[in-house]
Amino acid sequence: MTRSEELFSKAVTKIPGGVNSPVRAFGSVGMTPRFIASAKGAYLTDVDGNTYLDYIGSWGPMILGHAHPMVLEQVEEACKKGLSFGAATEAEVCMAELICKMVSSVEMVRMVNSGTEAVMSAIRAARGYTGRNKIVKFEGCYHGHSDAMLVKAGSGVMTAGVPDSAGVPKGCTEDTLLCAYNDMEAIEKLFIEYGEEIAAVIVEPVGANMGVVLPKFGFLERLRALCTEYKSVLVFDEVITGFRLGKGGAQEYYGIEADLVTYGKIIGGGMPVGAYGGKKEIMEVVAPVGSVYQAGTLSGNPVAMAAGLAQLSYLDTHPEVYTKLQSLGRMLYGGLEALCEELALPYQVNYVGSLGCLFFTSSPVKDYTSAKTSDTKAFTEYFRHMLTHGIYLAPSQFEAMFLSAAHTEEDVQRTLACAREYFTEK
Ligand SMILES: *Cc1c(COP(=O)(O)O)cnc(C)c1O
Repeated sequence: MTRSEELFSKAVTKIPGGVNSPVRAFGSVGMTPRFIASAKGAYLTDVDGNTYLDYIGSWGPMILGHAHPMVLEQVEEACKKGLSFGAATEAEVCMAELICKMVSSVEMVRMVNSGTEAVMSAIRAARGYTGRNKIVKFEGCYHGHSDAMLVKAGSGVMTAGVPDSAGVPKGCTEDTLLCAYNDMEAIEKLFIEYGEEIAAVIVEPVGANMGVVLPKFGFLERLRALCTEYKSVLVFDEVITGFRLGKGGAQEYYGIEADLVTYGKIIGGGMPVGAYGGKKEIMEVVAPVGSVYQAGTLSGNPVAMAAGLAQLSYLDTHPEVYTKLQSLGRMLYGGLEALCEELALPYQVNYVGSLGCLFFTSSPVKDYTSAKTSDTKAFTEYFRHMLTHGIYLAPSQFEAMFLSAAHTEEDVQRTLACAREYFTEK
């Protein structure tokens, strides 16, 4: 028995499923999860001493690679000064100023502890601001695990094959209107029917929790126009795309400004951080200025801020990171595309910048329904091959691959060679 297997057998007796977040359990690929002991750059080392080239990057945060010396140094400095004060600190001011500088639509921002919390709070602010209740969410988009968002959610919910979660009273999702991603006709119909009641439309500007699904040309523009017309709040959930598609995230990349934006993952540099921000007029409904209550004992935690600030400042001052991610993305995902073509594999590769996904389906993937046509058994076989050869992909067809600035061209070439070997031997 490996040390990972040993730990997992103990874990399942004391932690539901042996993990603290479902997709980590490797359930959909029928394997035992690897227990990770340490990580450096683009590589993970498990408790048995195996190393893996990592394409998860902690599900997004580690855009500069694991254990970046500059981030670690800032965290160590902060630790020495005390772990938490429950009072205002200078780092929070620096963080807010930096976010507002990097993202042009954000005039004010509130720090929280996770992406889930950021979304939940942004939705509450939008409802408080508009005095309306209904929110629109798209099938296959994942916005964390708060009650109102657990309808046809992506990520682990999709992997587990359950459209909705038990334990969520009907009342909590009654005001959540569903729409297919990229379906402009459907969203227009929803607005015609409910427009005056819609507080907010929340969307992943690039769907990155049902694999990777790009917004169709004109889709985000249409959402922007409808929200403006009906005075609804447009919320971009940039928990994955924020600071990844570029300094200014998807808003900058697609040239569209949302009214509110939610962040997580990269913003904390590996520490548990989330944030929501946007127009001052909306953010001023939040307590203690306004009447929308939202609070957090550990929000803006000094150690978490140190990690986040270190990573974001680095991204702010090193635009070459994004150039590198773009070119690695083209090499990896373009390479997979070329491989599919050469070997006549009927698969789809969707990608933008450093985010990408190989879908095991012959249908173009543009929404939840088409993503679901993927052959998850075929994915599983491929996943196992890659893992056995030291390449650590997300253990689900419905998750993105994440490149970091620590990946090299050699890493990417090795990955492509490994995929080629798998598909040619098959
Ligand atoms: C991960 C994710 C969340 C939830 O963030 P947590 O920090 O896991 O709570 C919300 N929205 C999107 C788009 C995400 O990818």
